[in-house]
Amino acid sequence: MSAPLTIIGSGMAGIGLLRALRAQDAERPITLITADSGDDYSKPLLSTGLAKRLPPERLAARSALQVAEQLHAVTRTHTRVDAIDTASRTLTVGRETLPWSELVLATGAAPAIPFPVPEAVAGRVFTINDLDDYRDFHAALAALGRPGRIAIVGAGLVGCEFANDLLAGGHEVSLVAPEAAPLPRLLPEPLGRALGVAFEEAGMALALEVGVTALEAAGNAVGLALDDGSRLDADLVLVATGLAPRTALAEAAGLAVSAAGIHVDRWLAASAPGVYALGDVACVDGVNAMYVQPLQASAKALARTLGGTPTPVSYGAWPVVVKTPLLPVVALPPTRPPARWRIEGEAGDFTALAEAEDGRLIGFALTGACVRRKVELARAAPPLLG
Ligand code: FAD
Repeated sequence: MSAPLTIIGSGMAGIGLLRALRAQDAERPITLITADSGDDYSKPLLSTGLAKRLPPERLAARSALQVAEQLHAVTRTHTRVDAIDTASRTLTVGRETLPWSELVLATGAAPAIPFPVPEAVAGRVFTINDLDDYRDFHAALAALGRPGRIAIVGAGLVGCEFANDLLAGGHEVSLVAPEAAPLPRLLPEPLGRALGVAFEEAGMALALEVGVTALEAAGNAVGLALDDGSRLDADLVLVATGLAPRTALAEAAGLAVSAAGIHVDRWLAASAPGVYALGDVACVDGVNAMYVQPLQASAKALARTLGGTPTPVSYGAWPVVVKTPLLPVVALPPTRPPARWRIEGEAGDFTALAEAEDGRLIGFALTGACVRRKVELARAAPPLLG
């Protein structure tokens, strides 16, 4: 039997590619290897399920077994690939050596925690970056048997979405971050402050412009020591301090990587023949967008390329919709620092336009009622990867 096309990773990138490949070729041998449960789920739903107390099984559209059957792929779950050899076109899993014809790395990105988590509090400190993580956090919340005091560290997209969701679920939420306002990488400060006001008015405690220096056991709780000398106690801590592309496998195999991900060209090809990457792990022609629309476009293009029609990927001006119902937010952050932000609005309803030196629109951010301008402004903005 010929060596299979092999996909590592069963997130939206890996399963999305498998689906796109099957839509054009029912027979080609394909193997999917994944370190997690292999369930087919939509990751964006993770930060909307806690308010509704949705059990993890309600978030999975299909089990790994159903994926394997429906998409006719050999699927190996809870299996970590240890090494890749690009010369012999093999990979290593434990003591096994498995051949591949083409290899696709869809290994995503891993949460980066910037402070040590002592053993004594490890059971109360979480990150949520996949369905298994959600399973653990959901169980810890349920074990409290009452609304919890939850400290969320990090006020980026993931931290803010979970903060809004947990507050809506009746928990006592504190949001801790070193920046002056929430969503610092997506919003200019006045709009971030508007989101902070909406959070506070709904009862959330904000601890901004402070960093966490240490976590310590405090009876049945966790004490967060903050760098302004204060301390915050919480039943559970959710750390949302950013994601780093999982490039270790690729790097050890000698592929070109950087902190931005595995370097691939517009055809999603890495620096060794037959090896490709997409999703959160891939830096495509200098851009690692780390959200769903770019990985869906990549899956479609790569399926065509692997099917024999080389197809470059391009990304449109696709704004990010932040799931904070307390104050809706849409943002298309400029890919380079703007000459100026032009900001209009009041009382939570803001339009901020990022302009180049010559006045051209290069990005925007919208809050409240102004989010309805999303389509009109996206039409006027430059593509992410033209
Ligand atoms: P992952 O989903 O991280 O998948 C990586 C896979 O690789 C996993 O299956 C893992 O087990 C496997 N793997 C890793 N290493 C190995 C190994 N050595 N061997 C075998 N398998 C391995 N984007 C939006 O566009 N809109 C949103 O509203 C939105 N909301 C989000 C909310 C949250 C809470 C989070 C965390 C992200 C959100 N995003 C959103 C971002 C979006 O979900 C991600 O960009 C996308 O899901 C990444 O998919 P992926 O397949 O590249 O990576």
